[in-house]
Amino acid sequence: MSRKIAFIGLGIMGKPMAINLVKAGHHVTGFNLEQSAIDALVAAGGHGAASIADAVKDAEVVITMVPADPHVEQVILAEGGVLESVQAGTLVIDMSSITPQTSQKVAAAAVAKGVRTLDAPVSGGEAGAVEAVLSIMVGGDAADFAEAKPLFDALGTTVVHVGPSGAGQTVKAANQLIVAVNIQVLAEAVVFLENAGVDLAAALDVLGGGLAGSTVLNRKKGNMLNREFAPGFRIDLHHKDMGIVTDAARAVGAALPLGAVVAQLVASARANGDGSLDHSALLRGVERLSGREVK
Ligand code: NAD
Repeated sequence: MSRKIAFIGLGIMGKPMAINLVKAGHHVTGFNLEQSAIDALVAAGGHGAASIADAVKDAEVVITMVPADPHVEQVILAEGGVLESVQAGTLVIDMSSITPQTSQKVAAAAVAKGVRTLDAPVSGGEAGAVEAVLSIMVGGDAADFAEAKPLFDALGTTVVHVGPSGAGQTVKAANQLIVAVNIQVLAEAVVFLENAGVDLAAALDVLGGGLAGSTVLNRKKGNMLNREFAPGFRIDLHHKDMGIVTDAARAVGAALPLGAVVAQLVASARANGDGSLDHSALLRGVERLSGREVK
């Protein structure tokens, strides 16, 4: 069934996701701060809007994919935002990675307007978004999840309802903890192997086939081999996510000793000017710590 979808936030992730919804036969109207991404959506068969209000006025479903909590609050709750212009009954799906608390705040404000919400953050990176193979972790009502499932299936291959409002964000926080620690330890192995004079490409090939293999290794080894750090997933955004998981874990009394160290290393990467690079650039931090020239 074709749905009328408003898509707010056409960045690294949102643009390919919106285009995949067009390819699945939906009527997608996009709004974004940079016009070039709206033009790309239109060129792919979607529609452009001049404002959030313009994008959402006739929508049955609104999807938001913006950087962080303040942007979600701005786009959904603020004056001129989604809740001001949507019709009652609309389903608003926020796919940004933010705190569970902000998701619950958005849900409460929406209920007051007769609007339904899901939090549905994703994992899989830009490649996962382009290839429509994202993992999507969804919090909210089961009936709303069932309604949105065909849309999620156009964006990803692992789509799971994990609990009530905010639960999707809690699972995403765990995802970001696992990914950051994995990238950091992969970077440490790379510097170790290079210093030892081993053929790095050969070493990563064989490691990828054993117990040390991982999606992080498969997806990020090219970045590390070629010192190619265009994002991808920016260190600035992973810094935001390490703050989310650190706070959320403290609130429930869970200790994250490795996560705490890696959160500091992500912060250090940012402080050294690497915030706009892909998170595989954690390698540069290990090079700095090892007294190596940073390439
Ligand atoms: P991005 O910075 O590339 O894109 C964000 C987009 O939001 C921009 O195009 C910007 O114009 C738009 N935007 C911001 N404020 C807006 C407003 N007021 N009105 C309209 N548009 C607005 O970020 P991204 O990498 O696409 O990430 C988006 C979210 O997805 C983040 O929460 C991030 O943590 C999460 N995420 C990213 C990746 C990744 O690999 N990039 C992977 C999984 C999850």
